[in-house]
Amino acid sequence: MNYVSTRGSAPVLGFEEAMLTGLARDGGLYVPETWPTLSREEIAAFAGLSYEEVAFRVMRPFVGDAFTDDEFRGLIDRAYAGFRHVARCPMVQIGPNDWLLELFHGPTLAFKDVAMQLIGQLFEASLKKSARRVTIVGATSGDTGSAAIEAFAGREGVEIFILYPDGRVSEVQRRQMTTPDAANVHALAIAGDFDAAQARVKDMFNDHAFRDEVGLAGVNSINWARVLAQAVYYFTAAVSLGAPERKVSFTVPTGNFGDVFAGYVAKRMGLPIDRLVVATNRNDILYRTIAGGEHRKAGVQPTISPSMDIEVSSNFERLLFEIYDREGAAVAELMEELAGQGGFELSQGALARLRDEFDGARTSEEETRDTIRATREATGEVICPHTAVAVHAAAQTRGAPEVPMVVLATAHPAKFPDAVEAACGVRPALPPHMADLFDRPERITHVENDLAAIEALIRKTRA
Ligand SMILES: *Cc1c(COP(=O)(O)O)cnc(C)c1O
Repeated sequence: MNYVSTRGSAPVLGFEEAMLTGLARDGGLYVPETWPTLSREEIAAFAGLSYEEVAFRVMRPFVGDAFTDDEFRGLIDRAYAGFRHVARCPMVQIGPNDWLLELFHGPTLAFKDVAMQLIGQLFEASLKKSARRVTIVGATSGDTGSAAIEAFAGREGVEIFILYPDGRVSEVQRRQMTTPDAANVHALAIAGDFDAAQARVKDMFNDHAFRDEVGLAGVNSINWARVLAQAVYYFTAAVSLGAPERKVSFTVPTGNFGDVFAGYVAKRMGLPIDRLVVATNRNDILYRTIAGGEHRKAGVQPTISPSMDIEVSSNFERLLFEIYDREGAAVAELMEELAGQGGFELSQGALARLRDEFDGARTSEEETRDTIRATREATGEVICPHTAVAVHAAAQTRGAPEVPMVVLATAHPAKFPDAVEAACGVRPALPPHMADLFDRPERITHVENDLAAIEALIRKTRA
């Protein structure tokens, strides 16, 4: 399987190179050259299989000959061995035909673990074969950083540096990044906000001499392998509810559009998905795009669902590539307009195709809190604020009652204890493996918001 850039002018790469490269050299994102499909019979045969076996069958066509079947199976098994539920991504019923897909049973309690744990295995296996060393750098507003640190701690061939905005992540999130004691992980507290952290990471990738010197690699949500790993749970969930005989809909709490794009991938592969609902908090650029065809930045406002406080939704570019007939030049033009003028208008044809696949809904802060409380009262389930945004959105967009609606539950409520307690009066406890999180010693390195200083620190640390 070959991968092409959404902007049409970067080299075509195989699976491993696309994964290790992250961002394409023309600024675009890598996508498969064609969509492999699974037959109805192949999908029907998923019923009753383990999560790992379905993962193998869904991802195999994308990986090509990068790994042997045995190797790839072994990597998948190791990736999910640390999940604390045998089903890996189990479902819980919250209404007559409404379900939560719990994606937070991995080590850092957010769905980012599902992809990041696998990526940790894939990176290590690829690097071992080529005897290469890489330096992973990433910026985080909370969940990605801890998932990446947990996935790469102690892995051979990898040194990982995560920049987080000093004082602007929750205490649970910070401690998840600063308490792992593996020598190859480094949490850097940068003086500034998330945009500053993100900007310095981009600067490092654009400093080509530095990029080559340290073997820079990225695992943020533009990495294709992350999207791919997330397509798997759409299959396990839908098949458990009767697919492929029956259609199933999904509602996805959305920020960078990676998770909901994985649903689109599952659909292109042949999974009979009825609707994909993009749920946003009050940072609603994607909701507005689906409603009116105009994709325009309006400024990010903080919310109680902080992992969705984003307006440059990087994976949306992958969907643009699809709805513009895979014309890289057209996508490059739109992205230029977004950078230069703060937005763009979709063509009528592209908007129609967007609406063929996706619905949008927006949830206010008050509605988020009300939904946490109402869900607890009706079902006993305590949900995180991101999940609540989607539960509310699902209710707003609910179509035919006979089509099951699956809401992706993206984080454990104990990751956001203050917001959850304020909404429903229950303070969710951390699961047992993390109960001592607040007693573990922290390791923090403070850095200035300055490219040269950060690069010097990375050079010195990895030497
Ligand atoms: C990252 C994240 C999201 C948003 O997912 P995207 O793939 O960026 O759209 C939603 N909820 C939680 C808890 C997250 O950590």
